[in-house]
Amino acid sequence: EEQYLVAEQKTKELEKAKEELEDYSEQLEKSSQYKSNFLANMSHELRTPLNSILILSQLLSENENHTLSEDEEGYAKVIHTSGTDLLKLIDDILDLSKIEAGKVILTVDEVNLTEIPELMKLTFNPIAEKRGVAFAIDMAENLPAVWYTDGQRLQQILKNLLSNAFKFTEKGSVRLGFDHTDDGMLAISVTDTGIGIPKDKQKLIFEAFQQVDGKTNRIYGGTGLGLSICNEFVKLLGGSIKLDSTLGEGSCFTVYLPLLSQEMVDIIQMAQME
Ligand code: ADP
Repeated sequence: EEQYLVAEQKTKELEKAKEELEDYSEQLEKSSQYKSNFLANMSHELRTPLNSILILSQLLSENENHTLSEDEEGYAKVIHTSGTDLLKLIDDILDLSKIEAGKVILTVDEVNLTEIPELMKLTFNPIAEKRGVAFAIDMAENLPAVWYTDGQRLQQILKNLLSNAFKFTEKGSVRLGFDHTDDGMLAISVTDTGIGIPKDKQKLIFEAFQQVDGKTNRIYGGTGLGLSICNEFVKLLGGSIKLDSTLGEGSCFTVYLPLLSQEMVDIIQMAQME
């Protein structure tokens, strides 16, 4: 009799604990949803005034009528660069919150073989020239003429990796390479002859807000969000990122993406329509 009562008591306690746990996870789900919505709205609200700051400071810094002194023109330029950094931070936070909330919508685009390299040349040739660092693009032979992937996301990933490569390279070169692996993946690598990343930090830097160290942070700026966003996007695209780096010699980030066939794309698109 006594044992039966104890067992009954325990069952009741367990049931109560289960209910509490369910309530708790419901609350957690709600607050996470609230956080994502809050971040999405905030980002939007911040972007509107920031756009005016960006456009007007750009106009001022051009100083077309020579109404500003050299110093004032310099101040306008600083406002514009700081504003640009802030916009990047807002965009990154918005991307991360979308990823966390599972709200990233991917598209499957037909990407022409030369399209992405051309775009990267347009964006990074001026930076390479300014930094005095060579920029080379290599394409392996026998690459398919078109790829199917989310073109915008792929551009975003490569822009992040290339910006880092130029940021952390004082002299030498940055190379963007396109190749395929034996098991039918596309391998896009960004190689630099920059400062390199210590072995014990190579995993960590793919996490949000992680940078090699505070000192580097002060010299180079940045938020530590770029690589974690790259990593999440690459995973969403069905791929992975590999890092090889030697301190003082340079780094190589390789993005592996599945090479989808036209048949697979048709299947994906049919599934999306249903
Ligand atoms: P951010 O560049 O804004 O700091 P990231 O997430 O893109 O953020 O990079 C995180 C950190 O990884 C950087 O702060 C830097 O310490 C290190 N890192 C990334 N790319 C490179 C690179 N190509 N060479 C050396 N260090 C790098």
